[in-house]
Amino acid sequence: MTTQHPEDSAQSAVTLRAALRSLPPYKPGKSAAASDVVQYKLSSNENPYPPLPSVLDAVNQVSPEMNLYPDMTCQAVTQAVAQRWGVEPSSVSFGSGSVEVASQIIRAVCEEGDEVVFAWRSFEAYPILAGLAGATAVKVPLDENERHDLPAMAAAITERTKVVLVCTPNNPTGTSVGTDELHEFMAQVPSNVLVVVDEAYVHFNVDPDAARGIDFFREYPNVVVLHTFSKAYGLAGLRIGYAIAPAHVSAALRAVAIPFGVTNLAQQAALASLAAESEIEERITALVEQRDHVHRGLAEQGWDVPESQANFVWLRTGAKTQEAEEIFSRHGVIVRAFGDEGIRVSIGSPAGNQAFLVAAQEVLDLVRGTSSTAGAAGAQGTPAASDTRNGG
Ligand SMILES: *Cc1c(COP(=O)(O)O)cnc(C)c1O
Repeated sequence: MTTQHPEDSAQSAVTLRAALRSLPPYKPGKSAAASDVVQYKLSSNENPYPPLPSVLDAVNQVSPEMNLYPDMTCQAVTQAVAQRWGVEPSSVSFGSGSVEVASQIIRAVCEEGDEVVFAWRSFEAYPILAGLAGATAVKVPLDENERHDLPAMAAAITERTKVVLVCTPNNPTGTSVGTDELHEFMAQVPSNVLVVVDEAYVHFNVDPDAARGIDFFREYPNVVVLHTFSKAYGLAGLRIGYAIAPAHVSAALRAVAIPFGVTNLAQQAALASLAAESEIEERITALVEQRDHVHRGLAEQGWDVPESQANFVWLRTGAKTQEAEEIFSRHGVIVRAFGDEGIRVSIGSPAGNQAFLVAAQEVLDLVRGTSSTAGAAGAQGTPAASDTRNGG
C-alpha cells in the first residue's frame, strides 16, 4: 500500500473510491536491512521457529499439485478444526489469514455508514477493513493500563453499530480481557450486534481469568471467534485463519470470501499442525518462558510494562518513540514503532531477546531523559547468533 493517493499521478481519468483517500496505510514490520550488525527482526510478531518437519512434509507432498485449484470448501481442515473445538463444521469458515476473515465479517454485516467499534490502539488492520467496507470506525481509547475499556466500548454502541471487535490479547499492548468483564460487556450489547473476539495470540495467554472466545461463542448467539495459524503455529507465510461463528454467519462469510483464497499448501500445513499440537505446545511454552524472562528483565531495568499475554511486549516510549526505534536499530533490533505512542517488540530467539534487553536499558535512559551514554553504546551487546532472521 502506498501513501500517495493513486490519483496524484494524474495518469488517467479513472476515478477511485473516495474511501481510499482516508484509509490509514498498513505498515508492515520492517525487514532487516543489509548491515554489519547482527539483526533480529522483532517487528511482526512472527514465530521464530522454523516449520516443523511434519508440516514441511505435508506441504511438500501437495506441492506437485500447485497447478490445480485448492478445495474451495476446505473440507478436511474444516473437519479438523470443528473436532478440535467441539463445534459443528457448519460453524467453521476459512480465509487467507484471519485478517481476511475479519474483512469478510465486516463486508458480510455492515452496510455503508454502519459502525464498527473497537479499542484503540489495537490491531492496525481494523480501521482499514472498516473503511474499505464503507463502514465507520469507532475507536474507543484503551484505559490507563493499556487494557480494553469495555464499559466505554459498550457506551459507544449506537443504532448504527453492527460489529464490535474485541482483540484479546490486544495487539500491540499484549493485555487480555477477563472472563467476568466480558460477560458484563455482553449483557450490555444488543443481540443484533456481532461481537468478534479476535484471538490471534490466544495460545500465549496463560492468565486463568482471561476470557476464552470459544466459551462465549457457546453461550451467546452473537459471538464470533477468530483464530489464525500465523502466530503460535508459525504459518504466517502461508495465509490461513478461521472463524467459529453461528452457522448462518459462517455461511455468509463463505459467500463473501475470495474464491479459492486458501491454498492447498496452507490447508495441508494447517492440518499437519493440528496433528502436531504437542510439539507446537512445547514451542509455545518456550516462547511464553522467554516472554516472561523479557518482562522480568524490563521490570528490573525499571520499565513499567503492561503484563503481556501475547508473543510481544509494549514499551510506552511516547514522544521519544522515533529516537527509541533508532537506538534499537543500532543494536540490530528491528521493532515496530507506532507514531508517538510506543514500540511493540516481538519475542524472538533467546539471542534476539537478549539483544533487545540490552538496547532497552539505553532506551529507558532516553525516555527518562538521563541518557549520557547514547551513541557510545551503539555497538555493544549484540551477541553473535546463528538464528538471525531477515524474512518479510
Ligand atoms: C496477526 C494478527 C491477525 C491475523 O493475521 P493473519 O496472518 O492474517 O492470520 C489477526 N488479528 C490480530 C490482532 C493480529 O495481530
